[in-house]
Amino acid sequence: MTNDEKVRKFVSEGICPVCQNKLAHKEGCLECEGCGWGLCEEG
Ligand SMILES: [Zn+2]
Repeated sequence: MTNDEKVRKFVSEGICPVCQNKLAHKEGCLECEGCGWGLCEEG
């Protein structure tokens, strides 16, 4: 499994790929409440 696939798997489960904390939805983006990691949907 590539790193990108791991990230997508975690994100699809609402979990931060960096610290396994819970992700929060913010204005079309996902943001980690623990470490500040974030991902925005593009397109
Ligand atoms: Zn995190």
